[in-house]
Amino acid sequence: MMLGKDVSDLSTTAAGAAAQGLSIVVPVLNEAAGLALLHGRLTALARTLRQRYGLACEVVYVDDGSTDNTLSIARALEADGLDVQVVSLSRNFGKEAALMAGLDHARRGAVMFMDGDGQHPPDLVEQLVSHWIDGGYDVVYTAKAHRDNESFPRRLAVHGFYALINWGARQKIPEDAGDFRLLSPRAVAALRQLPERNRFFKGLASWIGFRQIRVDYEPAPRAHGITTFSPGRLIGLSIEGLTSFSVAPLRFASLLGVVLATVAFLFGLSILWETWTTGKSVPGYPSLVVGLMTIGGVQLIMIGIVGEYIGKILSELKARPIYFVAEHSDKRASVEKDASTGERTAAE
Ligand code: UDP
Ligand code: MG
Repeated sequence: MMLGKDVSDLSTTAAGAAAQGLSIVVPVLNEAAGLALLHGRLTALARTLRQRYGLACEVVYVDDGSTDNTLSIARALEADGLDVQVVSLSRNFGKEAALMAGLDHARRGAVMFMDGDGQHPPDLVEQLVSHWIDGGYDVVYTAKAHRDNESFPRRLAVHGFYALINWGARQKIPEDAGDFRLLSPRAVAALRQLPERNRFFKGLASWIGFRQIRVDYEPAPRAHGITTFSPGRLIGLSIEGLTSFSVAPLRFASLLGVVLATVAFLFGLSILWETWTTGKSVPGYPSLVVGLMTIGGVQLIMIGIVGEYIGKILSELKARPIYFVAEHSDKRASVEKDASTGERTAAE
């Protein structure tokens, strides 16, 4: 029995890569205002990629339960030089589930993930594709060049999060890396083999390994509307990510237990010593209460952490589908002429 997975048959050579094409997965939640503009930019991008690399493109819009007319706008978009799939989920399942739905429906070899709010500049995609085709990289991920515009507490929280999730990990998740990334065919195949339902995409895309490269960029301001990730939701997402991806919090709990027990033991020894040497009995009331409250609080936190993991086990065990697709539309590119141009370019 083979316990690992072999994805080596998926070629990443320039010619092989170009022949398989590229799927662009875009999760959208209430992005009606900017969708047509984004699609226009993606259409132009597909044209450029076809001319430069002979690369056939498809875009997969995953409507994550939008309440505005995102879906009707998406379905009306033209497949001008690139295939357009619109996958509409039965309700809002969250961005991670939407990304997974896109990955499941992507038909081309390589897959690129990109936000639907215009913050991930399509202009940068050419550079990402070049790292994949010319450079032979499997995971081309983007990261915020700097966090100057973010508050100090937020930066501290982000730093703490990555320190904890990467604690003791063999493969570290790069700090500041976003969901805007390109995966080569074999990296896509690897990602598809991961069976867990609680997915932390950033972590998994890093965990699979292969040749990875970082590209720094400055996210554009949101084209319209406001972010769906409020600070409260980000904290929830961080806890989700931590507990579904790493056992670091459990180790942290054990370590804290050991430290507290050691301190308590030393404190006890010092009391004994004092009583023996001076004959005084140590006044106990305040120290007792402080000690009790510390231990009580820490124990509750630890039970909470363990509880999070039990919740994860339960949800994996139930094995519910990550998403339901309510509607699916599929338009193939209507460009015989352009396609032949593409082939000619590829052959040159
Ligand atoms: N999104 C989604 N489902 C959600 C939340 C967000 O599909 O439940 C999409 C959203 O439409 C956008 C992307 O995920 O295309 C990133 O969301 P947002 O811009 O709100 O997050 P931020 O850029 O602030 O991290
Ligand atoms: Mg955004």
